Amino acid sequence: MSPANEAELSDAVAGASGALRVVGGGTRSIGAARAGEVLSLSELVGIEMYDPGALTLVAKAGTPLDDIEAALSAEGQMLAFEPTDMRALLGRDGASTIGGVVAANASGPRRLQAGACRDSLLGVRFVDGRGDVLKNGGRVMKNVTGYDLVKLMAGSYGTLGVMSEVALKVLPKLDGATVVVRDADALEVMTQAMMSPFEVSGAAAIPGEGVFLRLEGLEVSVQYRTEKLRALLGKLGEIEVISDPAQSAALWRRLRDVTDFADGTSAVWRVSMKPSDLMSGLMPALGGGLDVQYDWAGGLAWLRMGTGIDDAQIVEMHEAIQTGVTAHGGGHATLFKAPDAVLSRVIPFQPETPGVALLAKGLRAKFDPRAILNPGLMGAA
Ligand SMILES: Cc1cc2nc3c(=O)[nH]c(=O)nc-3n(C[C@H](O)[C@H](O)[C@H](O)COP(=O)(O)OP(=O)(O)OC[C@H]3O[C@@H](n4cnc5c(N)ncnc54)[C@H](O)[C@@H]3O)c2cc1C
Repeated sequence: MSPANEAELSDAVAGASGALRVVGGGTRSIGAARAGEVLSLSELVGIEMYDPGALTLVAKAGTPLDDIEAALSAEGQMLAFEPTDMRALLGRDGASTIGGVVAANASGPRRLQAGACRDSLLGVRFVDGRGDVLKNGGRVMKNVTGYDLVKLMAGSYGTLGVMSEVALKVLPKLDGATVVVRDADALEVMTQAMMSPFEVSGAAAIPGEGVFLRLEGLEVSVQYRTEKLRALLGKLGEIEVISDPAQSAALWRRLRDVTDFADGTSAVWRVSMKPSDLMSGLMPALGGGLDVQYDWAGGLAWLRMGTGIDDAQIVEMHEAIQTGVTAHGGGHATLFKAPDAVLSRVIPFQPETPGVALLAKGLRAKFDPRAILNPGLMGAA
């Protein structure tokens, strides 16, 4: 089914006799392929309203992300949360949609400064599991009515409702430079940089290659802050500066999209925890055998097992990582990529604590009482 407008979407959900699999561009869907009729948002396209002066954009959920970024770029603006492009990592070739971005709360390196996708979300319209059309939030920044429900939709992976329209806050596009610190303690460098007043908008690290710190804004300001960071961090490692904006942007796309892990990979996990718990607690406890890339000043890690690993080893590692996350302060470990045989045996998302599970169950019962929207995707059938 490919409804062409919100009324058709509502009819499709209301008339469904069984499970529905909600699909945007299919570029970020994770977990096992599930049963259910495909409900494609590919026909629900179009930017409904874009007001650069008011820094707001409203689009139908199936609108390609590329179209939105092109419209923003023409006005010198951007989505501040810099949504990732997971196609290379996951081996997909579709066109990412804005509904899918919101459903997955897809948030790139700037999250530590500008917030996640959900923080840019002003409002949504969606169809719940009964087929009822609900709207929440607004189309402008001053309207904060019902903000909480808006935030709930971001990251719900289509399990609470099928979004038909999203309203987003946008920001002016910025150029930047990157300070690279080599041969240094990554956690120490990232912590010092984030504690400094120099407005670092990206802090990532690749062990053996370096720590990457991004500075954005007016050229003169970037230059000033670059020199300040050099002086602050020079004692911790060898400093190199990438001052060409295009080169710096390419580096951050590589870090954002985790393209280093696109090939030669059996399994990839995405782990989000408090930086010290992740880098000083979980990682040493897991021992070797995993490649790692850090983002969000150490609050996000991408972990990879190389090729030549059998399925049982991946399942064992999945359990070890999720148990380790709980044991070292809590957080989320998601099996992002793995062979189908593994994905059909495990739940990719971090198990919820009993209290959170109870809340999630209550929400699902409220929004999707027939349990037909992406059932089982996040662990609750
Ligand atoms: C656990 C996890 C964490 C992720 N974290 C990040 C992150 O931190 N940063 C990042 O950049 N990217 C992240 N991603 C990937 C990315 O967020 C998105 O999935 C992507 O934006 C979706 O684009 P798409 O159109 O290809 O969606 P699809 O791959 O088609 O769908 C993605 C999910 O959204 C649902 N969905 C799609 N459209 C709608 C709609 N209109 N209404 C309701 N549900 C819908 C789908 O059913 C599916 O569950 C994450 C993905 C996963 C699985």
